[in-house]
Amino acid sequence: MKINIIGAGLAGIEAAFTLANRGIKVNLFEMKPKKFSEVHKSEGVAEIVCSNSLGSTKITTASGVLKKEMKVLDSVLLKIASLTKVEAGNALAVDRKMFSEIATKWVEKHPNMNLIRERVTKLNDENIWIVACGPLCDDELIGFLKENIIKGNSLHFFDAIAPIVYADSVDYSKGFWGSRYSDSRDYFNCVLAKEEYNRFYDELIKAEKVEFKEFEKNYYEACLPIEELAERGKQTLLFGPLKPVGLKFKGKAPFAVVQLRKENREGTLLGLVGFQTKLIYKEQKRVFRLIPALRDAEFAKLGSLHRNTFIDSPKLLNVFLQAKDKPNVFFAGQITGVEGYLASAVTGIYVGMNIALFLKKGNMIEPPKNTMFGGLVHYITSKEGNFQPISENFGFIDVDKVRNKKTKRLKQAQVAINNVKAWREQYESEFD
Ligand SMILES: Cc1cc2nc3c(=O)[nH]c(=O)nc-3n(C[C@H](O)[C@H](O)[C@H](O)COP(=O)(O)OP(=O)(O)OC[C@H]3O[C@@H](n4cnc5c(N)ncnc54)[C@H](O)[C@@H]3O)c2cc1C
Repeated sequence: MKINIIGAGLAGIEAAFTLANRGIKVNLFEMKPKKFSEVHKSEGVAEIVCSNSLGSTKITTASGVLKKEMKVLDSVLLKIASLTKVEAGNALAVDRKMFSEIATKWVEKHPNMNLIRERVTKLNDENIWIVACGPLCDDELIGFLKENIIKGNSLHFFDAIAPIVYADSVDYSKGFWGSRYSDSRDYFNCVLAKEEYNRFYDELIKAEKVEFKEFEKNYYEACLPIEELAERGKQTLLFGPLKPVGLKFKGKAPFAVVQLRKENREGTLLGLVGFQTKLIYKEQKRVFRLIPALRDAEFAKLGSLHRNTFIDSPKLLNVFLQAKDKPNVFFAGQITGVEGYLASAVTGIYVGMNIALFLKKGNMIEPPKNTMFGGLVHYITSKEGNFQPISENFGFIDVDKVRNKKTKRLKQAQVAINNVKAWREQYESEFD
């Protein structure tokens, strides 16, 4: 039996490789290049639409732990990430173009994968489907899902994305290269003196924003636009995206710092870290050029608002991410209400593994508790009350009381990784 996967994005690709590497034929449907969402731009699969960072690699961070777990689960995207990484201190950042090119090449040459460049608008009952159409899922498919599966339970919210400038338009005399708390030179730190910060802040607060409707005011806290953060008070940015902590310029801590991170291997593009915004384009240029190093900056991409569609997974899906009312339909990726590149990708691996097991042995296994990936799946399928998107976090991993935070994180990391290893072994013994 062939499995139909809708969307060759991060979750779709992980699901496809997981199944195809276990000898199962998959049809991978991708609507690009016939149709692009408002954010997708390239023809390749596994397109990284925004920041090129896949998060921290530090084991004391949730993202670092999830990466370790995904390695245990043979994540293909992490393999591609290691081939395409650019320097970014403790973060795993990739050259987006190379990343997508390699993923496309690998998909095209896999004997069990059939990449079909078509937009899917409906699902039949005869096939197994994995709906991995992402947060910008095509409207017609959403319409079909609403009528047949979601039945009025779909939700939307909006995210804001950060601008990117051309590296050769930055004034490097107005800052320095360096990373927080380390000797690496992966970030360019644009320095602002107190009066420069005050002026920037005053103009940011006054700047014209894109108007949005009442129901769109549902921001995801980790992705708040910079101007929304600024509205919380003059000091807020100094503890957020403009924090100077851990950095020294000419022997002392600067008043405020805006960090620029390489967006591609060549280092010709630099992203403004934490500068998601919904200011109108003209205002972005005006206000962000008040940062001294960016006075003459040329913008390769301006920040914007985007919709983010996700379903009410606790009501609609069981713990296998399978539609309760349609057992031949599974969901993976951001549309399930997980948030972020890796959280999206790992659900693709999980669904792929379970479908492979189901086809071979007729059963599926629940994800492990006390892990990042299992925590995500359990959360999105069992959350009571108001359901909002969630990303990996240490709240998913329960350990005995430890006073010291770092020691606690290390312990949680160890527990999570061991649990995923044990789960993988259990899976393989059931699969054999
Ligand atoms: C603008 C934006 C910025 C984001 N920024 C970040 C960020 O900086 N960091 C982060 O961690 N996460 C970010 N995210 C969130 C999320 O991690 C990414 O969207 C991630 O790509 C989700 O993976 P996915 O596989 O679920 O969907 P996607 O990677 O979007 O893949 C879905 C694929 O399905 C295709 N498709 C859709 N409908 C159909 C159809 N009917 N038929 C066929 N194909 C279809 C699309 O063309 C697309 O290729 C961002 C999301 C958006 C929209």
